[in-house]
Amino acid sequence: MRNTARVLAWYDQLADDSDFIRRACPLCGGDEFAALEIGEPVGRVGHNVLCANCGLIYQNPVMTLEAMARFYESEYVTNYRDSEQMARSLAAGRVRLLKQHVDMSAISPELEIGSAYGAYLVALRDEGVEVAGVEPSREMADSARREHGLAVTAST
Ligand SMILES: [Zn+2]
Repeated sequence: MRNTARVLAWYDQLADDSDFIRRACPLCGGDEFAALEIGEPVGRVGHNVLCANCGLIYQNPVMTLEAMARFYESEYVTNYRDSEQMARSLAAGRVRLLKQHVDMSAISPELEIGSAYGAYLVALRDEGVEVAGVEPSREMADSARREHGLAVTAST
């Protein structure tokens, strides 16, 4: 697959970067996947892939726990605060992609782990999906509840 080749090339670029680890599908253990074309990753986060075996969408590669702690303390909040329009655009792209491949009623209810300010949850809710989120940044979780009335819990 064209996108898979692109992600594999990106993998190789990250192979020596100790901030990232490669992983098999966390649901079924499969190691074949297709990259999802949803735009560029925000900051130094992994890339979303679709498991070829079970269909789970997950990040691969993923940051180490140490890198993740550093990221959520600084770069993450700053990236999103300064790019709300981009977050809404990415969310709309993700929902368009999902609608091409799945029946939206089949994914309701949806729990997003790492829901930031809630742009993706709002886009899903606009499609009739029942949504909730978990967000490691208390500032973002509070904002998602206050600005959008979303059920978002601040937790790691
Ligand atoms: Zn899988």
